[in-house]
Amino acid sequence: MRNPRPLTELAQTAVAAVLKPGARAIDATMGNGHDTLFMAHGVAPGGKIIAFDIQGQALENTREKLIAAHLEPMVELHRCGHEQMGSRVPPDWAGRVAAVIFNLGYLPGGDKRLITRAATTRSALEQALALLQPGGLLSLMLYRGHSGADEESAAVHDWIDGLDQAYRVKRLESPGPLLFLVEKLQRA
Ligand code: SAM
Repeated sequence: MRNPRPLTELAQTAVAAVLKPGARAIDATMGNGHDTLFMAHGVAPGGKIIAFDIQGQALENTREKLIAAHLEPMVELHRCGHEQMGSRVPPDWAGRVAAVIFNLGYLPGGDKRLITRAATTRSALEQALALLQPGGLLSLMLYRGHSGADEESAAVHDWIDGLDQAYRVKRLESPGPLLFLVEKLQRA
């Protein structure tokens, strides 16, 4: 399905629908902090965001945005790979996270060699699913064309294909990235 609106906008609209004041959410790929900031607004007041990136530059850029918006106290920034997500979030977050955003690839304006990778992405996706609450959403933006992208894309498609009926997946295409919206269904 092709979309006239940019996929980044569609992803944020979908995530906004599951965020509410007091909620918990995770940015698995902080980058320049656009999604971290967006989610912090969505869970204020009283909510909490935990965000991950392997690059110091990402944490600096994100912290700057949060300070300017007076939202820094609501966000924990972790300089480590998202594959450590399960051990970095508090144990009582299991099954209670409203949304997790993955925006794969490299840091715009940064070092293009520091990209997300198939094996760690897949591990982080598994950990994120275990953290999602019923009705929660995992938003996954997958870019094509850069080195390592094909391998990561294959791993993501394989992971998506293996999801069971506890999840509903919406796939949105553009000439550039692909967006997967994975909803953890409410159980009766
Ligand atoms: N959503 C971000 C924003 O709003 O600016 C953009 C994210 S950017 C496309 C991808 C980010 O993933 C880069 O900043 C890169 O450093 C980061 N990254 C690469 N490997 C990672 C890993 N294992 N864990 C967490 N982040 C990683």
